[in-house]
Amino acid sequence: MSENNHHDPAALNKLAEPFEVLPNDNPASDAKRQELTDKPAFGQVFSDNMTHMSWTKGEGWSDRRVEPYAPLKLDPGASVLHYAQECFEGLKAYHHDDGSVWLFRPDANANRFRNSAKRLYLPELPVDDFLGSVAALVKRDAAWVPTRREYTLYMRPFLFASEPFLGVRAPEEVDYCVIASPSGPYFPGGVKPVNIWVEDTWFRTGPGGTGFAKCGGNYAASLVGEYRGIENDCEQVCFVDAATKTYLEELGGMNMFAVHKDGHLETPSLTGNILPGVTRNSIIQLAQDEGRDVVETMIKLQDLLDDIKSGEVTEVFACGTAAIITPIGHFKSEKFDVTVGDGGSGEYTVATRNKLLGIQLGEIEDPHDWMWKVC
Ligand SMILES: *Cc1c(COP(=O)(O)O)cnc(C)c1O
Repeated sequence: MSENNHHDPAALNKLAEPFEVLPNDNPASDAKRQELTDKPAFGQVFSDNMTHMSWTKGEGWSDRRVEPYAPLKLDPGASVLHYAQECFEGLKAYHHDDGSVWLFRPDANANRFRNSAKRLYLPELPVDDFLGSVAALVKRDAAWVPTRREYTLYMRPFLFASEPFLGVRAPEEVDYCVIASPSGPYFPGGVKPVNIWVEDTWFRTGPGGTGFAKCGGNYAASLVGEYRGIENDCEQVCFVDAATKTYLEELGGMNMFAVHKDGHLETPSLTGNILPGVTRNSIIQLAQDEGRDVVETMIKLQDLLDDIKSGEVTEVFACGTAAIITPIGHFKSEKFDVTVGDGGSGEYTVATRNKLLGIQLGEIEDPHDWMWKVC
């Protein structure tokens, strides 16, 4: 794909072609769809259709189709329900002012999806099928892409072992689906800093684990920590490394950056415990474009807290597709409560969020050809 001009929708259309579009006799009414895309509740509303593919050990990938959104028929013995052989992706379709619809770096999600599948011993979906399946659903449900600024159609591709078998082994039957959910801005009242609980008892992953794979199991493992945070008035939890409890890793579903007073950025290096975020990678690129140094390194929690207190670190933020960039106002644990800067949204944090969002919405130049036009 790399030699194609991403701004030419013909490239994606070609990849979407193998997906047979089945009729849908029961779509939402125009009025209902309008209501659902105008005031979406995150993750609770889904569009009319979904993409589906199947894989078997003997036949490989087959059965590319876009079909009406409906509950899956799954055997209660399906391996995924017992052993969690599942991975997923998350990306957004953006409405631009001229009525066109775009994806942000879907090739990066496609490649990461392969890496996640490999770690879980699931078959790797070809990059072209990932791109084609997402594009096919966006085209089919283009009317579900919200048109209000900062509202998007959140796309959720996922892959799981569906064969009824209670032995633990490499899967022989797998299903792949894409579903789409209209979503509003993460912070409806505007961006505001969150409190972070620093968790040092429960970990989402460990050395040699599945930290770098985007899999449901990591999220299941993060919930105990997440709720310890909530009990302590924190919106999110930050994990430290399980082996030494010394180094910062990431939040339950977002990567982190610290802004230093000389303007350089630091972010935890991709040790294998950390999910390689597309947003993280894009922020590194944008900072380097501005001539800033970005240091990917092991960041000691204690050093970060000391640097915040001394003013060496002026801003800390979290990043991911859903919220784009979230300022961090406080770090809390049983032992400390540290305020970052004045506890508000930092200047660089807000500027970077606006820049990335501007590119995604087609409002400012896209210097790295990150946007792919679907229709
Ligand atoms: C998805 C995810 C992120 C953010 O990745 P993006 O590609 O930027 O959306 C960060 N951490 C975890 C654990 C994730 O699952």
